[in-house]
Amino acid sequence: MNPIVTISGGGIIGNYISSRLNNNNIESLIIEKSASILPAAENIRTLTLNPYSKKLLDDLGIDIKYAEIKKINVFDGEGSGRIDFSSEEIRSDNLSYVCYFNDLQSELKKGEKERTLFKTEIKNFKENDSNNTCNILLSGSEEINSQFIAGCDGRNSNVAKLSLLKPITSVYEQTAITFTAKCNLGDLNSAYQIFSERGIFAIMPLPPSSEELTHTIVWSVDHKRIKGNNIEDFVKKNISYFERKLNAEINIHSNILSFNLSNHHFENYISGSLVLIGDAAHSIHPLAGQGINLGFADADAFCEEIIKAYQSKINFDKNLVLKKYEIRRKDMNLLMLKSMDFFVDLFRSDNLYIRLLRNIGLSSVNKTNFIKRFFINHASGNNKI
Ligand SMILES: Cc1cc2nc3c(=O)[nH]c(=O)nc-3n(C[C@H](O)[C@H](O)[C@H](O)COP(=O)(O)OP(=O)(O)OC[C@H]3O[C@@H](n4cnc5c(N)ncnc54)[C@H](O)[C@@H]3O)c2cc1C
Repeated sequence: MNPIVTISGGGIIGNYISSRLNNNNIESLIIEKSASILPAAENIRTLTLNPYSKKLLDDLGIDIKYAEIKKINVFDGEGSGRIDFSSEEIRSDNLSYVCYFNDLQSELKKGEKERTLFKTEIKNFKENDSNNTCNILLSGSEEINSQFIAGCDGRNSNVAKLSLLKPITSVYEQTAITFTAKCNLGDLNSAYQIFSERGIFAIMPLPPSSEELTHTIVWSVDHKRIKGNNIEDFVKKNISYFERKLNAEINIHSNILSFNLSNHHFENYISGSLVLIGDAAHSIHPLAGQGINLGFADADAFCEEIIKAYQSKINFDKNLVLKKYEIRRKDMNLLMLKSMDFFVDLFRSDNLYIRLLRNIGLSSVNKTNFIKRFFINHASGNNKI
């Protein structure tokens, strides 16, 4: 068992990479710390996929249910600024797709089960210069050799810690709250995002289900706003503000999940045979639902470079293959991360002048078609390097 690529972490990104490489006859092995069968979890978390990520999944034959978003309406809850995006503006069928996190993860895992070692972790690894591979020590004391280690083990990546790579981390002092709901918003292909003092509130359609649930909510709130309340009380006290803004009733259906928000980014994604991909390399504020999309764009670039190298049938320089991946992805990810931070700070400010500027800014961009098209194309994954 000496796979060409050993993948640390069998989440969505790790399983996607394994499946794509094996479809191209490149052997992989996933090392996943959790068990193969997990207790059934309530379907609460959702993911917003851009058209490019959805295409990558379609190409692998992943068949799950999606809700289609054709319009996104963004507005400032405290002012008059608004901006609307529609799929017609980029002559596309949809702007994005919503799926359940569990549906996508379990569908991808199903195909890769026999290529996964569960309840296992990488304990250590060292470069073997004599044959240009890497010796990997697993938690069961087993040793394997691989050409590459793909670090797909999420935001506290174990393999990043074992390497000398150092992350730059910052905290937002915010919590992301998410739940599903029944809501009487008329148009089931529209998403809404409200920036307000009570947080950044996004409401998006859900894929069809037997329970006839209609929407998923992702709501980021400053810690100082929640102080003294538990999350459920905070949601119950403040949801009516958004019901008024949307002119709709929102009936909470699921349990309420919450996550502390922070971001991180590595200055380098590669070290020897190791390469960081997806949340292992970077994490981002969920306000634009871009986290997994950046991960899919990373995974796509990594797979393309590896497949190209192996299909060329000539000796290739391993470091150059990984360097190409890093060049393609690092600056794009950093740009998205910095843009999200800019929006978080802009809408957090109570300063009257900044509020005025952001209202004028939003409405001006709304009237400027080429800037809007740039934003939409960027978010849809169409601006690929
Ligand atoms: C509230 C919220 C809402 C979000 N909404 C969106 C959205 O709408 N759209 C979007 O694009 N993104 C969204 N995201 C971000 C998205 O969920 C992540 O970007 C994505 O899940 C990252 O996938 P991943 O496979 O890289 O990492 P993970 O999902 O973290 O998977 C890591 C895997 O590695 C395993 N692992 C961990 N440590 C080890 C170890 N030591 N050894 C072996 N295995 C290990 C874990 O068990 C797991 O299986 C959201 C995030 C939050 C918090």
